[in-house]
Amino acid sequence: MRRRAAIAVLAPFAIAVLTLAGCASAPAPVVVAPPPPPAPPPIPTAPPRLVVAISVDQFGADLFAQYRQRFAGGMARLTSGAVFASAFQSHAATETCPGHSTLLTGVHPARSGIIANSWFDTLLSRAGKKVYCAEDESDPASTSNDPVVSAVHLKVPTLGEWLKRADPASRNVAVSAKDRSAVMMGGHAIDQAYWYKGGQFVTFRGRTPGLAAAAANVALEDRRAKGALGMAAPEWCAARVGDFDMGRAGVIGAGRFALAPGQSDALRASPRMDAATLDLAAGLVDELRLGRGAAPDVLSIGLSATDYIGHAYGNQGLEMCIQMAELDRALGVFFAKLDGAGIDYVVMLTADHGGLDAPERLGEQALPQAVRVDPALTPAALDRAIKAQLGLPADPQVVFGDGPFGDFYVNKALPADVRAKAIAALAFRLGHHAQVAAAFTASDLAKAPLPAGSPQDWTLRDRARASFDPARSGDVVALLDRAVVPIPEPGPGFVATHGSAWDYDRRVPLLFWRKGLPGFEQPAPVEAVDIAPTLAAVLGLAVPEGSFDGRCLDLDGGRGNTCDVRR
Ligand SMILES: [Zn+2]
Repeated sequence: MRRRAAIAVLAPFAIAVLTLAGCASAPAPVVVAPPPPPAPPPIPTAPPRLVVAISVDQFGADLFAQYRQRFAGGMARLTSGAVFASAFQSHAATETCPGHSTLLTGVHPARSGIIANSWFDTLLSRAGKKVYCAEDESDPASTSNDPVVSAVHLKVPTLGEWLKRADPASRNVAVSAKDRSAVMMGGHAIDQAYWYKGGQFVTFRGRTPGLAAAAANVALEDRRAKGALGMAAPEWCAARVGDFDMGRAGVIGAGRFALAPGQSDALRASPRMDAATLDLAAGLVDELRLGRGAAPDVLSIGLSATDYIGHAYGNQGLEMCIQMAELDRALGVFFAKLDGAGIDYVVMLTADHGGLDAPERLGEQALPQAVRVDPALTPAALDRAIKAQLGLPADPQVVFGDGPFGDFYVNKALPADVRAKAIAALAFRLGHHAQVAAAFTASDLAKAPLPAGSPQDWTLRDRARASFDPARSGDVVALLDRAVVPIPEPGPGFVATHGSAWDYDRRVPLLFWRKGLPGFEQPAPVEAVDIAPTLAAVLGLAVPEGSFDGRCLDLDGGRGNTCDVRR
């Protein structure tokens, strides 16, 4: 109280002094106004000249949320645009091929026909009966392990193909470390496409790589010959450092991607793979003068390193932290090249699916429910069990499948009554297994309506229905419980994975950026099938009604509407 009184006494005196000073000869105080904010670039009205469609393989919404505040390069730029933090790869089979097939076609796998990375045709004459999603198995040279790469199984056109139909001057170009990523984003009519195989970027059989690909291969060869030191980690990765012994699969959690001279596989599961892919993408922009031709072009870029790293090391170690920093940096370098060339471009970045960390580490990090799948669910074990139950001979093989979940096939060469019994026995066995959340027969799914409404609220049956194709799906589809990792035994390069019907695999970020377009964030669920109609509208491209399963997202956070193609 005493102190407050003293101030009250002093205050009139202080005011008097200030007033006197103001009346005397002292100059009037200069008010320094803060500098005006830089004028925003004008909001674009004409369609862009280049669509850059980027898929970051296994970059789930959870990973984006974990690292978005750290981004300072290309990812930071995209995060200043239109941000959809909860985009859904709505279907159950969250694998790479289906996930890429939705992005630029605008349809679910049930309609694209790309229901999984591989499916089985039990009447196929070749051994194994497996068909790879991006092969032409009718070519005698094609095998499921060494496929003749083709988009023959993709049943619908891509955005680049719609553009080329509207104006053949449009170019449709795709590059990725994975053939299926390049092919599913590019589609059937691709001007140039490249993927990484045997330490090089290669293209379709019978085509000769162009100048940019040749230069990229020289750079890869140089890198392989010299090797490389381990990569520096940003300070904010320090919290992620920690060795985790995975037994036969080695130690994860502290890797820095050093390359011994002569290694090429190790390069693939490192941030250098994405940098090389983006270097080639930039080379193709220069070589083909993309974005500067008579009609708009599409450049699809599949960045696969996040997926290879997620599989090899999980997604909660130092390895993924370095990868996130390097992805951000490499994208920044790439966008700066496009800016430097003066190209008017729009960027879309999303993912084909998310992912889950290794269950051993999840168990230490408050998710003890995370476990590895029971080996009794592998196709070989199920084949043995069904044969024993039905008293069938060891040959022929009865049950086929690509892993311990998803689509299981019963041999179509069996007599009809035996086959029907085997399907019923398989559905019962899978449906009653403690780790299986739901098992559906093909006839169940064929009767189910195509799902609609928010993908967040879809039932497991809805999710499986969106992955269902009557000619390609299994006789029984099994969806594992949440946090059951479908790798029975971890091995080198394969400790963690994706593929489930749960949201850690279905939810991905979806980011759009164009110079001058006001940014906003929309947390409500949208779908990956919304991308193609959204970009078609931005390009002012008329696509026949009913061509897409998704809807156009208005990318203008203000009064404009990028879905209004009459603008
Ligand atoms: Zn993938």
